[in-house]
Amino acid sequence: MKLPKKTKRYCPKCKKHTDHTVSTAKQKSRSATHPLSRGSLSRQKARGLRRGFGNKGRFSKKAPKSWKRKTKVTRRIVLLYKCKDCGKSSGIKKAIRSGRIEIGEKVAK
Ligand SMILES: [Zn+2]
Repeated sequence: MKLPKKTKRYCPKCKKHTDHTVSTAKQKSRSATHPLSRGSLSRQKARGLRRGFGNKGRFSKKAPKSWKRKTKVTRRIVLLYKCKDCGKSSGIKKAIRSGRIEIGEKVAK
């Protein structure tokens, strides 16, 4: 997927269309103060995985030997747009799936 290095987008802070530079979001590591803040049981409950009725894909599965999981060849890429006027950056609402991404000329991972 090819993208331009900069585009014109609406900036919520400047409240007008300004020039934005395009980059991709990197995977963030866990912080030292909250190392399990995203993998907690309370978070799972909040997602609705541990209560209610129904199978939720947990019990009626085939035996693990009889199926093989396909590995995905694409990744989900979150784009970040940084405003040139105020320096604020904002991401896109929904990540795109793409194997390779080119911003301007350089290939970003
Ligand atoms: Zn701005």
